[in-house]
Amino acid sequence: MNKPIRHQPFACRICSKRAESEIFLLSEMMHGTRETFEYAKCSNCGCLQILEIPADLGRYYPQDYYSMQPRDEPDEYKGIKRLIAQWYCRSAALTPSSILGHTVRRLLPMPTDFVSYGTYLIESRLRSSRDKILDVGCGASPNRLAAFRRCGFRNVEGVDPFIEKDHIYEGVPVLRRTIDQLEGEYGLVMLHHSLEHTPDPVGTLRHAARLLRPDGTCLIRVPVMGTYFWRRFGENWVELDPPRHLYSFSVDAMRLLGEQTGLRLYKTTFDSSAWEIAASIRYERGIPLRSTQKSTDGFSATELSEFNKKAQELNDNQDAGRACFYFKRI
Ligand SMILES: [Zn+2]
Repeated sequence: MNKPIRHQPFACRICSKRAESEIFLLSEMMHGTRETFEYAKCSNCGCLQILEIPADLGRYYPQDYYSMQPRDEPDEYKGIKRLIAQWYCRSAALTPSSILGHTVRRLLPMPTDFVSYGTYLIESRLRSSRDKILDVGCGASPNRLAAFRRCGFRNVEGVDPFIEKDHIYEGVPVLRRTIDQLEGEYGLVMLHHSLEHTPDPVGTLRHAARLLRPDGTCLIRVPVMGTYFWRRFGENWVELDPPRHLYSFSVDAMRLLGEQTGLRLYKTTFDSSAWEIAASIRYERGIPLRSTQKSTDGFSATELSEFNKKAQELNDNQDAGRACFYFKRI
């Protein structure tokens, strides 16, 4: 585990440094084809990256990969209740220290949409609920943007080059575009687990910075290299996902990416879950992600509860396998 197959000089596509690097052999395990791919670990910034980007990447994505499942529950609130819920969410995200908002939040339960996604709105430090919000690589059913919209942040838009066609999803415009084809000025540009799939992360973030208003926020969620999961599971860490994940960024690599593209990292929040631990153990046992079993099969309730505790502990210690990085446009 974690044993390189050789060393060779490699020019990192993130920090540009050319150095003698460890080369690892990783196996495809989402479908369980076990096709192998070589990855280099940059000895300067710690980013793990595929040695050669396959020319036919599309064939590694299952047909249903881009069609996220739509919500099946109805809207939580209608009419006046929706207006109150929106006031609640806007006040919590934009003016968290206001006394009136604080009092209302003590009296009323938090809307479910805000429980799930409110932290992104709070940490992004938006100026107003009219700030334009863009989700890059959002899939055909951008549930996150639809929830933002229900929370009263209505200026939302999603793009994904791999969806079939432009459409509206629960009031959210979803465009079949790449980020370089976009114009406009956004208060928040988000990439939730899409940057690791892009062949050119530096170019992608330059466009994200170009689309931000001064002091706008870029939110990036990615797997994080060099933490507990890499040390414990090595090539069986579920987030490596070769060859779809072309990169696993270290914290240093993320900071460097920001510095090169006009973005200043101001907050990092780790967000691994018990699923990541269970799925990595299943890889160790030779069970592909897309097996007929459920991800919790083969584990007792006590084990699953331990995984939850472990994931929380790793998140608190900033040593988990996934994180949300918040950048401000410089
Ligand atoms: Zn590097």
